[in-house]
Amino acid sequence: MPVYENTKLILEEIGSTTLVCVTKTIEPERINEAIRAGAPIIGENRVQEYEDKRDDILPCETHLIGHLQTNKVKKAVHLFDVIQSIDSMKIIRDIDRRARDIGKVQKVYLQVNIGNEPQKYGFGPDEIKNAITEIRSLRNVRVEGLMCIPPFVPPEQTRPYFKKMKALFDEMKQENRDNIDIRTLSMGMSGDYRIAIEEGATMVRVGSAIFGKREY
Ligand SMILES: *Cc1c(COP(=O)(O)O)cnc(C)c1O
Repeated sequence: MPVYENTKLILEEIGSTTLVCVTKTIEPERINEAIRAGAPIIGENRVQEYEDKRDDILPCETHLIGHLQTNKVKKAVHLFDVIQSIDSMKIIRDIDRRARDIGKVQKVYLQVNIGNEPQKYGFGPDEIKNAITEIRSLRNVRVEGLMCIPPFVPPEQTRPYFKKMKALFDEMKQENRDNIDIRTLSMGMSGDYRIAIEEGATMVRVGSAIFGKREY
């Protein structure tokens, strides 16, 4: 796949929406093509995979978008500019502690399980407000956004979930103070990023539309 051209086209298409170029399973050489084409941010799902590749990747903002395990928190805080996949109070408290150890304020987004799916990570939509209240006392994290992965349904059926996320985002934007400054809504992937943008996404996370089908 022509990574450079694909990246350029998507950047042009999405305009002022921020692109996270999702690079799981992709080799540094191809990731660098996307960065050269102007991809401002790369998103990785696994801490270890990114650590193994990072020396060969051009300078770029980095986001963690996959579930974070407690035993990887220290590394994640060292490696990522933003951790988008905050899915429990336990993990954000661990991040706060590790960030304090190295004098960092870790930027994070809260992951919302917008379809209330039992098998999926994330806060339930009705848990977000309480979580934000509790997070106010954590000095070494800063909540700058919400992210979601809607249920796996045909693209057009994702629209109601994106609408729900936008409503939640607009509500939580009002909660701002100190370390809570929610201004990014991260939703939409290769199959549905156009719909997500129509519904108010400020950031989309796109992998296969740039790199082609992933091979595991
Ligand atoms: C893999 C992944 C994406 C990108 O998926 P594509 O369909 O390849 O665009 C986006 N967000 C998360 C959390 C992912 O794991």
